[in-house]
Amino acid sequence: MARTKFVCGNWKMHKTVAEAVQLVKELAAGLGDAAGKVQVAVAPPFTALHAAAQAAAGSAVEVAGQDVHWEVQGAFTGEVSAAMLAEAGCRHGIVGHSERRQLFGETDEAVRRKAGALLAAGLAPIVCVGETLAEREAGRTLEVVDRQVRQGLAGLDAGALGRVTVAYEPVWAIGTGKTATAAQAQEVHAAIRKILRDLGGSVSDAIRIQYGGSVKPENAQELMSQPDVDGALVGGASLKAKDFLAIVKGAL
Ligand code: PEP
Repeated sequence: MARTKFVCGNWKMHKTVAEAVQLVKELAAGLGDAAGKVQVAVAPPFTALHAAAQAAAGSAVEVAGQDVHWEVQGAFTGEVSAAMLAEAGCRHGIVGHSERRQLFGETDEAVRRKAGALLAAGLAPIVCVGETLAEREAGRTLEVVDRQVRQGLAGLDAGALGRVTVAYEPVWAIGTGKTATAAQAQEVHAAIRKILRDLGGSVSDAIRIQYGGSVKPENAQELMSQPDVDGALVGGASLKAKDFLAIVKGAL
């Protein structure tokens, strides 16, 4: 089935408000033919979300949160709710990024609750999964990804599932310059598609599965030409308009 490709830039802890506004404007102005053909989002830090969303208004650039808390409100110092993301102008939220899992102890259960909170607030979750190098070398890639997908999406009905994007991001490829080959990515994406069919039946054919891990202008097109690679989650190469736009155009 034809799925609109979805490319999201994860800016991590980069860009001040002024820098974020500038980059969004450059992206909006540079999309050209890709506007409306490729879904494009950026995930600035929390402090720049509102300004980025305002700068993106009226363009094809959408805004995503990098994380969210699952509760609606309360005594959770440092956290931000899904409704707050929505109010700031977000349409998406990233959950389960490997940096959150590895550096901040995010569990599959937390991912499930965060995805649920985003959906309840009308936002679309981007649920990240992926194996470490040790897990790949031990032949456990598919087992790890299977667990992360099933537990991260547990309990969602078909309607909710249809609003989710899954991002396959092998941890060994993130920020390392090592990219999965197109064949390695396709193998795992096809396995994820099967799990999604198990969970959601026919709705799963519409779910986008992004690849993430050192995506650059030079490898984006080949990766996204694989049948189950429906876009990219881009870290480092999303920080410069020229590189990110080249990746987006690789999805055409
Ligand atoms: C990411 O952090 O989601 C990512 C894929 O980073 P990079 O593109 O820098 O490897």
